[in-house]
Amino acid sequence: PTLKRLDQLLSNLGYCSRKEARYFLKDKRVRVAGEITKSASLKVDPANVLVDGAPLDMPDGILVMLNKPEGYVCSHDNNEGSRIYDLLPSRWEARNPKVVSVGRLDKDTTGLILVTDDTKLVHQLTSPKNHVDKLYVVSVDRPLEENIVNEFAKGVMLGDGEEQCLPAKIEIIGENMANVTLNEGKYHQVRRMFAACGYYVDTLHREEFGAYCLGDLAEGEWRNLIP
Ligand code: URA
Repeated sequence: PTLKRLDQLLSNLGYCSRKEARYFLKDKRVRVAGEITKSASLKVDPANVLVDGAPLDMPDGILVMLNKPEGYVCSHDNNEGSRIYDLLPSRWEARNPKVVSVGRLDKDTTGLILVTDDTKLVHQLTSPKNHVDKLYVVSVDRPLEENIVNEFAKGVMLGDGEEQCLPAKIEIIGENMANVTLNEGKYHQVRRMFAACGYYVDTLHREEFGAYCLGDLAEGEWRNLIP
């Protein structure tokens, strides 16, 4: 195992700041291999550390999926209303590195959003070069016409011929409902693709991101993806 200074470990995992670590330890909240320790400089194996009697919170890194409810923003900014991070342990935002979402969903979009502290993984999963599939369930304001399947397959043109989308798959599953699979992530892409075809998107829900599926995860709940 990689040994780490105890004060660094505690501050990296968001338990306290590096400066606060001395006082945190003085309060007898930390045990290393069963013994209360007050030494900030002690080199420890994270697996041997307990805080308030509990093992460290995800010392090897964070990757979770969240079922985002409507009205939440994928931003750390406190001025934009409710944030997805308010649905996760607050310590994760105090960590270094802190957690971020893998791409973003609009405030009104629901469903699967990944949250991680692994910046390399974020780039892998969001890089246009990697063509990671995203599956959305969409409802629109009027009955879907069959020709939209072809329009999506050709690649929808957005704006005034400014942005060409890659071919996308659409499966009509109800009068006003469809499954859409994209492997890119332009700004408001699903909403703008439907707008370009003459539909207004009423509800937008992401069911899958790459290999990850929402499954039975309840709205507002999260699940750990690291085994
Ligand atoms: N496309 C959109 O328009 N919005 C989202 O939130 C995701 C994909």
